[in-house]
Amino acid sequence: MAGDETASGFARRDFLAASLAMSSAPALVSVASGPAVAQAAVAAEPPAPPPPSAAAARKAVESVKDAVLRISREVWATPELSLKEEKSSEIHLRELRAAGFRIVSTGTSGTPTAFVAEWAQGTGGAKIGFLPEYDALPGLGNAAEPRQIPGPTGAAVGHGCGHNLLGAGCTGAAFALKTMMTDAGTPGTIRVYGCAAEETEGVKVYMARDGLFGDLDACLAWHPTPVTGTGLLRTAAADMFRVRFTGRSAHAGVAPWEGRSALKGAELFAIGVNFMREHIQPTARLHYVFTAAGVAPNVVPDHAEVWMTIRDSDRQRVVAMTAWVRRIAEGAALMTETKAEFDLTFGIHDLLPNAPLASHIHRHLTAVGMTWTDQEQSFARACQKEMGLPEAGMATSILPLLPEKTTGGGTDVGDVSYNTPTGLFGWATMPLGVGLHTWPVTACGGMSIGDKGSLDSARVMAGVGFDLMTDAALRKAVRADFDHRVDGRTYVSPIPKERLRPDGIPAHLLLRDGTGEVVDQLYRPS
Ligand SMILES: [Zn+2]
Repeated sequence: MAGDETASGFARRDFLAASLAMSSAPALVSVASGPAVAQAAVAAEPPAPPPPSAAAARKAVESVKDAVLRISREVWATPELSLKEEKSSEIHLRELRAAGFRIVSTGTSGTPTAFVAEWAQGTGGAKIGFLPEYDALPGLGNAAEPRQIPGPTGAAVGHGCGHNLLGAGCTGAAFALKTMMTDAGTPGTIRVYGCAAEETEGVKVYMARDGLFGDLDACLAWHPTPVTGTGLLRTAAADMFRVRFTGRSAHAGVAPWEGRSALKGAELFAIGVNFMREHIQPTARLHYVFTAAGVAPNVVPDHAEVWMTIRDSDRQRVVAMTAWVRRIAEGAALMTETKAEFDLTFGIHDLLPNAPLASHIHRHLTAVGMTWTDQEQSFARACQKEMGLPEAGMATSILPLLPEKTTGGGTDVGDVSYNTPTGLFGWATMPLGVGLHTWPVTACGGMSIGDKGSLDSARVMAGVGFDLMTDAALRKAVRADFDHRVDGRTYVSPIPKERLRPDGIPAHLLLRDGTGEVVDQLYRPS
């Protein structure tokens, strides 16, 4: 269903896909005509000295460089859609085993291509998590060339969201952090969550339901973007569901009175939703498509289906709107003497930022810095020319810390952020003005621009991870900010209890153990 999911627009819920992409628009303007990005950002702070761990992180990433680039390049060359990431997850697992990590579970939280791996030393240390993703997108296979041309496996599937880089950076950061902790004799636990299916029904929400993030001190991740930065960005909470109307078919000309139209139920449902709009918060979004609406006008349709997404800036508002919309469906069924079935398939929390973590990540972003060769800038400008964009090349400076702001997009990292302090950032792996889910993202992800994203993001996360492992005051500040934002709310999973796993898992993976069930060694933190 990945193609449908993508068509829904819901798939672009990557944490910074909407938010930092928004920031890239002013960044592009600033290149072209002057207004500074800083307009949209907090006033620049005086430059802080690079954190002492930045140099060790650079050295540690250098020592695991080959493994990081193997993951990045092999996953790029083996693009697989959500829930079908058999080879991609195995590439991560192979490298994790080789690096001395213990594979805690595969088939995690009911998802065959998800996993958890761990490395620990000593006692009483902190626990830090990383969130690699590795799914690709339909229609975005492309060669590592600055023009739209099929890639090594054609054009059907490709890494147009850069998850080959995202995954390599996160797993690579875990390797580098292990090296740093081994060298320094630092006690602690590094946990790597193999986050399958980010583009559709992200497994992080299922993992959060299983309580897999609850014992962490913090979780770190990044996302490829056109610009490099971090801040207090929030993303929207969402519910995704299908409303199915069932009526009775009849000859529409001879005996229409014998029929009850499921389509009319669906139409009145949509009218009800649209009348509701006046009375919801301006931050809310309601979007829907008709996925079944009858087959011929001379047959009264006995089946109709509406697929809908509801979003708002926080989870409570989404839950309230979903309850209202459910009653609208019941009302539409009453009016048309049809039946309405409400099927909530997936939901996500809004993303809670973390101020101390964001400013600490910002110090590491600045310490790592961005440099591009002339060849890389030419490659970027050639992509922009092909896309009809201003030929501004790659971003060259780190954005100032972004202020608190909610975007309309969403991410399954939101559910992680309600369970543990979560730090995120964007690193430039595509030319300015290029959006995610486009062919230049795939192209840049298969050459040196992408390699730099994998390695540089790993440097940032290894450095931040080491500071979290070794600095109790930083951990305390991060936890206090988290507690303040959660404000006593208990995490309630958006996914209905009866839903065991995402839809769309290929049958051969479900049947792998011969019982029809996923081989699921459910992991519970000790
Ligand atoms: Zn993504």
